[in-house]
Amino acid sequence: MSYEQVTVQSNSQTLKPTVTDRLTMGYVYPHAPLEIIMAHGLTPTLVRARPGIAGAFEASLQTFACSYTRNLFSQRANDQMPASSALLFPGNTCDSLLNVGDIWRVRFPDDIIFRLTYPAANQGEAAVHYLADELRSLSQSIEAAFGRPFSEEEFRDAAGLTRQFRSAAQFLYAARVVSPQVLRYSKLAALIHTFLLSPDQKSANEITNASTQVQRALARSRLLDSAKKIQEQLIKRHLTPAALPHGAKSPRIAIAGGMIDPGAIVALFNAAGIPEDALVMDLFSFGFKTVFTPPCEVGRDPFDSVARSILASPLEPTQEGLGVRLAFLKDVVTNLAVDGLIVCEQSFCDPDEFEAPSLEAEASKSGVAVMRLPIDPELSDRERLGVRLQSFLETISPRSGR
Ligand code: SF4
Repeated sequence: MSYEQVTVQSNSQTLKPTVTDRLTMGYVYPHAPLEIIMAHGLTPTLVRARPGIAGAFEASLQTFACSYTRNLFSQRANDQMPASSALLFPGNTCDSLLNVGDIWRVRFPDDIIFRLTYPAANQGEAAVHYLADELRSLSQSIEAAFGRPFSEEEFRDAAGLTRQFRSAAQFLYAARVVSPQVLRYSKLAALIHTFLLSPDQKSANEITNASTQVQRALARSRLLDSAKKIQEQLIKRHLTPAALPHGAKSPRIAIAGGMIDPGAIVALFNAAGIPEDALVMDLFSFGFKTVFTPPCEVGRDPFDSVARSILASPLEPTQEGLGVRLAFLKDVVTNLAVDGLIVCEQSFCDPDEFEAPSLEAEASKSGVAVMRLPIDPELSDRERLGVRLQSFLETISPRSGR
């Protein structure tokens, strides 16, 4: 497709509003302020890169666009993006997201686009005040666009809902560390995805029910206390050696990677014919970062509260704090008996490419086998990636002594 065709096509379509009276706001960055959006009566809905999207629009993006943002832009250009009333892009995270947000406004001027700019360094009160001001400004923009003012009551409900979801999902993460067979990783990924697509009481109850069932199963095998302890330690991001059952047949694999979707991880494992119980957890990924975001407190200034919650969530490769992430990685691989680490890298993602060598070196120092896996949202090289995964799994075996 030529550049002119691309421009014509891009101007011919607009983001479809939802057909229900429920307004939705699509977001692409893991640390979106869900509670603030819901306090305006809008439903935040995760917009993810999707396989099978033709990349005709790649020609209109600069080379700094990663495969992830190209996929998003192509979804919109090909009219394959889920219906949404508005989109929220982040600022000050990575160049790709900043630029695709700018280009989007130009190419699709009828779309309602918001931007939330995050502080580059997330330490200290100055960062909290900065982000709280940005959230206030976003709130005013939402009210101006949709005529829906911020509601304290809806904010409280939203805070309760996200707290319920995260508590259940955190437990399920910890439960799989103790006993990966107790819940399929694909089931956990689906439960998280369902909530992030439509955070409501139904989806929160669904994951809570799954958590209750898993608690019962672990109680029967006397592993419940271990799982609860690991949940607490993961929340604090400080681990001690975990008491794990002996006799695991599969190696214990962890996955790290910037914006890797848990669903893509499942697809890759399936393509490689690897049993899901080999996958103990994902780290620094979309799932982990979202689930381990601390709850926001009610009863204080809501913007300050949401800012503190976001800034206390597991760190991004796009922000400062590599040393903290490496320390946590070391903590996980040594204390949770990880045998192998797969470091996923989105194609053309600068943050992933800068961080991956450090993650690899840190895990290697702890005696963990490491594989770096370049990946794109289309999983365009699925078969070759599957073969690489199989080969990697064959080189490692469960550590003795468990
Ligand atoms: S962090 Fe990486 S994968 Fe995510 S949008 Fe930025 S460049 Fe793309």
